[in-house]
Amino acid sequence: MTTKRVYNFSAGPSTLPVSVLESIASKMLNYNDSGMSVMEMSHRSSSYLEIFNETKTMLKKVMNIPDNYQILFIQGGATQQFSTIPLNLMKNGKADYIVTGAFSKKSAQEAKKFGDVHIVYDGSERNFKHIPTQDELDLREDTSYVHLCSNNTIYGTEWKYVPDTHGVPIVADMSSNILSKPIQVSDYGMIYAGAQKNMGIAGLGVVIVREDLIQDHQDKIPVLMEYDTIAKNDSMYNTPPTFSIYVLGEVLKWIDDLGGLEVMQKINEEKAKLLYDYLDQSDFYQTHSNPDNRSIMNVTFTCPNKDLDALFVKESVKAGMTNLKGHRSVGGIRASIYNAMEKEGVEALVAFMKKFEEENG
Ligand SMILES: *Cc1c(COP(=O)(O)O)cnc(C)c1O
Repeated sequence: MTTKRVYNFSAGPSTLPVSVLESIASKMLNYNDSGMSVMEMSHRSSSYLEIFNETKTMLKKVMNIPDNYQILFIQGGATQQFSTIPLNLMKNGKADYIVTGAFSKKSAQEAKKFGDVHIVYDGSERNFKHIPTQDELDLREDTSYVHLCSNNTIYGTEWKYVPDTHGVPIVADMSSNILSKPIQVSDYGMIYAGAQKNMGIAGLGVVIVREDLIQDHQDKIPVLMEYDTIAKNDSMYNTPPTFSIYVLGEVLKWIDDLGGLEVMQKINEEKAKLLYDYLDQSDFYQTHSNPDNRSIMNVTFTCPNKDLDALFVKESVKAGMTNLKGHRSVGGIRASIYNAMEKEGVEALVAFMKKFEEENG
């Protein structure tokens, strides 16, 4: 079989580790002597329950999740949580939202349907180049939770600290940087992510939530949006996204085999440094985000003009790289260098950038 692969810099769904793909492929027709693929298994079968429980155990191990947190596997991705969070966690009808990009803006807009939403900080005037410092946060004390997005996938900015919210639980959308570095789960009331960036494939949303926060919620909400019901049924109130959960388990084993999140962070920082170091010494390319809050997952930059941006994208395809076009709201180039992007891919990109600059600078 010829396996000609490209370096895929997609923001999501995104590249997966080759060893994970190979392992899945090798078991596609007959998973561990079950005589069937994981896709064909009953979610209640012993073969599948083994996969399910192992995935949960691995997530708990890799992220060092304390016992008083529930791990929920939910269909509907991160966006569904934008609605589910206020329905479950807005206990007193109030919530605070920190708007640092497109997804946090969407989540705040959705929450406004359900209660009194206070925007703690709005980065839109600075075109989301900046993450607020503690001093810039206008937090309320009598609010149910503070929502933030830990990594802004479109703009390429990332929180480098956990804000002090005076004991109010923080709810964090970590879709694009979960599993990229160690975090202290107990700093958060809830963490959630769509799986298709660093965790695996689309179809799965992962919620890690402190038990005491989900014990009550508004009376009449759709049953599949009740965190307590999902928790009581161990994510099997209905059929969970079985294959996506299996892929997550394989990705977690790959991270664990590499040495866990500390090693993952070191590799990610090395990869990001290759790009940012090159960008910083170049007069040709401009980075979008401010240097102190640059994302190590999504690197955003522009060429001197839009025609060159377009040419860059076109030529990069010929050089074996795809999905480098920036999001339409930022323009330019975006290289998403999630966990599974090999260092060789980033080196190839830097070499291409250098050549492109020489030819067009
Ligand atoms: C991709 C992304 C989302 C949207 O995720 P879906 O699974 O498509 O709903 C939300 N937030 C962030 C930070 C993202 O990167």
